[in-house]
Amino acid sequence: MALLQPDTARIGHPPGQPAEDRFPEELVSGTPREVREALSKLVGANQVLYRAIDLVRYASDASPYRLIPQVVVAPRTVDDVVALLQYCRENKRHATFRAAGTSLCGQSQSDDILIDVRKHWYGMSIEDGGRALRARPGVILGHASAYLGRHGRRLGPDPASINACTIGGAVANNAGGMRCTIDRDAYHTVRSMTLVLASGTVIDTAQPDAEARRRLHQLAGIGMLGRREDLPGRRGLHHPALFHHHDAVLDAGGARFLIEQLQRFVDRLV
Ligand SMILES: Cc1cc2nc3c(=O)[nH]c(=O)nc-3n(C[C@H](O)[C@H](O)[C@H](O)COP(=O)(O)OP(=O)(O)OC[C@H]3O[C@@H](n4cnc5c(N)ncnc54)[C@H](O)[C@@H]3O)c2cc1C
Repeated sequence: MALLQPDTARIGHPPGQPAEDRFPEELVSGTPREVREALSKLVGANQVLYRAIDLVRYASDASPYRLIPQVVVAPRTVDDVVALLQYCRENKRHATFRAAGTSLCGQSQSDDILIDVRKHWYGMSIEDGGRALRARPGVILGHASAYLGRHGRRLGPDPASINACTIGGAVANNAGGMRCTIDRDAYHTVRSMTLVLASGTVIDTAQPDAEARRRLHQLAGIGMLGRREDLPGRRGLHHPALFHHHDAVLDAGGARFLIEQLQRFVDRLV
């Protein structure tokens, strides 16, 4: 093909049939009762969204894809998250996290159990005279930078979606932006993080036993990821990282704090 002469016939017409988009008949009355009841027992009935209208609301994100979840759950505590992951493991269900839903490749969609990690996960405090921020994952990234502004500082990642996306989503996606450069993208901004592995293990990467705990528990996480490959309709989509972080310390000084432990976790999990 000559330079600057693209094959325009291929744009917007990938080979194959369009994916089925109709709302599934079996979900018209909402989430199947046994799933709804089991999850309600785990995290409380008010945290389980099961009506057809809820499932449709969460079926879309900022990507061009649409997947109808079987159920949406909004955990309030780390114990809730651990219990949900255990339920998924034991019942061979798959879990996907949804924060603000601004990612562009379908990462925050699910055709099974969608876990909202924005609603109950707001909260932050300034540390180290404004050089660091301790934040829960549901904090809107733009709010965090505005909060740090009183100390004349801001966080590194500056995606154009900054006023909608969350710290959790930015870290999971390693979000960057127009001005942040690789040196200040999300991974390079994290000093430490407390996270829950797919196995249910809770690890604080700032603690000296973090590496040992990861080694002990990594297998359970990988086993669960393997199952996702078998799911029809998800091929080709980015697989969400199966960990949940509930507290992160982010560097606001602009200095480079590449967190090696985190990179090793992500390498193992994704
Ligand atoms: C208009 C627009 C502009 C954008 N500009 C940029 C840009 O400049 N740079 C850029 O990098 N991106 C950009 N994006 C993409 C997107 O906004 C970012 O990647 C953002 O960080 C996603 O955050 P979110 O809170 O919406 O996460 P979601 O989309 O909800 O989730 C993103 C991923 O993180 C996972 N996740 C979310 N929370 C957690 C958690 N607590 N624990 C574990 N996993 C979790 C989800 O499962 C999913 O895989 C843009 C998007 C839009 C719509």
